[in-house]
Amino acid sequence: MKKPLIPLNEEERLKALRKYNLLDTLPEEDYDHITMLASVICDTPISTITLIDSDRVFLKSHRGLKGNSGERSTSFCAHAINDPHELMIVPDSRKDDRFADNPNVTGAPYVVFYSGIPLVTEEGYAIGTLCVVDSKPHELNDIQKESLKSLGRQLIRLLELRLKNQMLDKQKADLEVYANDMEMFAYVASHDLKEPLRMVKSFNELLARKYSELLDDTAKKYIQFSIDGVERMNSLIDNLLLYFTAGTLSKEKQNTDVNHVMKEILKLYETQILSGELKISFSTLPVIHISRMEILIVLQNLISNAIKYQDKGNVPEVEINCTTEGEFVQFSVKDNGIGIQRQNLEEIFTIFKRLHTRTAYGGTGIGLSIVKRIVEQNEGKIWVESEPGKGSTFYFTLKKN
Ligand code: ADP
Repeated sequence: MKKPLIPLNEEERLKALRKYNLLDTLPEEDYDHITMLASVICDTPISTITLIDSDRVFLKSHRGLKGNSGERSTSFCAHAINDPHELMIVPDSRKDDRFADNPNVTGAPYVVFYSGIPLVTEEGYAIGTLCVVDSKPHELNDIQKESLKSLGRQLIRLLELRLKNQMLDKQKADLEVYANDMEMFAYVASHDLKEPLRMVKSFNELLARKYSELLDDTAKKYIQFSIDGVERMNSLIDNLLLYFTAGTLSKEKQNTDVNHVMKEILKLYETQILSGELKISFSTLPVIHISRMEILIVLQNLISNAIKYQDKGNVPEVEINCTTEGEFVQFSVKDNGIGIQRQNLEEIFTIFKRLHTRTAYGGTGIGLSIVKRIVEQNEGKIWVESEPGKGSTFYFTLKKN
């Protein structure tokens, strides 16, 4: 008996094999279908998917054989992988010097006919074979040979898909851990950071009040700057928290009447609307399946931007409309504000991106990124059309149901 040679790239080959996490796994239907087809097409009682480990073979699928393992030194498949691109055929092992006294030939399962196609990974490593076996001499015609090769290629596709799925599962799990960490960080940061901020603010206010007579105007101005800074920091923390929790809000989906949401938002601007400093109009809006909180945040952010980004003295006019496009609804929030230059239309949705100084227009640069996150997590899209000096229209789509 001739022992199978060990391939030159054995170390890398074993690494490649282990990557698929197939060794010692339970039988699976997809693989059993392939051995069944191989047996039927080649008309053999036995067919296996054999993986060649360092000193043993593991049968991922075995049709017509009882056990699922064997020794590498007596394995026909371990010979086959040494010619990775060829179908190995042994018409009658009893007449073949390499196998005549092999215990698998002289004893069970009495391998007389063998044909195996090596399973070569995308990286070029022969990790095993798909083989057919008979206990009597047998021949394969050209169609059977080609079919066996095709099944081998199909099997490799199945293995590559398995690898990609495993990678995706891992990435998904990593992302979940990351998202949980971020959420936890956002909560801890918001609670722990806000406490000292409250202290800084209240002591500054105390200083301004109790020592008012001792402080000159410059000192009072500096104290006010500190208070403004604290308030800005507070709003940054609130917005960051909202950004990181945007995804988790969507869990509480419900049928939400957006007309009611709009009315709630209008209440915030009641005084300005009544005094004629602001005009807001909206058409009949739909009922959609979304968390009430999320649609409120989206509309409120877009409307507050529409009101904020105006030339001094201009009365803001905001118009909210909605159309149905198949299974989606498309909202638009139109303003008569300063507009946005063409080259900035996409980047404004990036977190912290602002087009103006804080003295020109206050803000944190987080609002639109929160809006985008919420919209995309609800399978929608968001974009803006605008011309400097002529106003902007923000569009977003959401799934109706
Ligand atoms: P913030 O308003 O806090 O700066 P946003 O993320 O809401 O942050 O907006 C990002 C930037 O997009 C703003 O700084 C502004 O330059 C621009 N922008 C947003 N909405 C409008 C609008 N309606 N008209 C003009 N510019 C806008």
